[in-house]
Amino acid sequence: MDIIRKITKANLCGRGGAAFPTAKKWKMVKEAKGEKKYVIANGSEGEPGVFKDTYIVEKYPEKLIKGVLLAMEAVGAQNAYLYLRADLYEKHKKNLREIIQEKILRQAQNDTIKITVFREDGKYLNGEETTLLNSIERKRSEPRYKPPYPTECGLWGCPTLVNNVETFYQVAQIADDNYKNQRFYSISGKVQNEGVFELEVDLTVDQVLKKTKNYPERAFFVQTGGGAHGFIYTKDECKNALLQGAGALVVHDYQEDPLEILKFWTEFFLLRNCGQCIPCREGFYRINQLLKQDEIDYELIKEILYVMADASYCGLGQFAPEGYLDFIKKILKR
Ligand code: SF4
Repeated sequence: MDIIRKITKANLCGRGGAAFPTAKKWKMVKEAKGEKKYVIANGSEGEPGVFKDTYIVEKYPEKLIKGVLLAMEAVGAQNAYLYLRADLYEKHKKNLREIIQEKILRQAQNDTIKITVFREDGKYLNGEETTLLNSIERKRSEPRYKPPYPTECGLWGCPTLVNNVETFYQVAQIADDNYKNQRFYSISGKVQNEGVFELEVDLTVDQVLKKTKNYPERAFFVQTGGGAHGFIYTKDECKNALLQGAGALVVHDYQEDPLEILKFWTEFFLLRNCGQCIPCREGFYRINQLLKQDEIDYELIKEILYVMADASYCGLGQFAPEGYLDFIKKILKR
């Protein structure tokens, strides 16, 4: 089976948030030169409001491992890691190791390959692919400069395929001819029916909320991408397609104090940024201070956010400001 060709035909994009075309990434690792190659399933799900990878590890561990084995075969890797958030690791390590043994012995029929179930060290930023590599190498949990990208120079300098847990699940669906152009949505916040739902990829926000019986009766807005990162959809904008992202919808209503939402994000990032670069580290510190003032200077907060977006070292500092600016413009109307 030429799985890369099947993935290309299915038009599968990564489900970790960046939506990079999966077949293109697999081809890059396959064609990269290296004595060894690695495959990593990223299950370091730390964003509030995103819990679909947890759901997949619990409900579909065989599919996840099948997807990893297919990737190893396709790119020519002998070693793989299931990189799991600490609580997921503790809860599922035994079951996952049993499935790996059984699949490698019976299905792959190859005792030279190895899949390690790996416990991450509890840092939020470990979900970022180069931080994840540092963490497996037991270095500080902070991002590496890109390029080179992991596809060319990843774990211990070798070509490495890093994909999200859901991406491997969807690859297994493609291999089994079960892929229906669907994805998992994590829905939370002010809703009746919080949970994980598998639905078509190209829905509007309204359609996702209605199909899952989560359309609010009160005036609302939706944060997509995660409970701390991501764009805001006002009620009117929910007629638009949901951007790919990590498939998370956090529903808010106007009974919540918007300032408390901004304070929650800021404290979240203040505690979890890695501290490697000044714009992000200082930026969240200063915003946190400004949000505690009686008269909040939103113009100054916006200036700080622009600098963070322009000058931060990794995606956290570069893209978190987008969510803040969207929120200030649409919800605080400043
Ligand atoms: S942007 Fe933030 S998280 Fe990223 S390297 Fe800089 S301090 Fe660390």
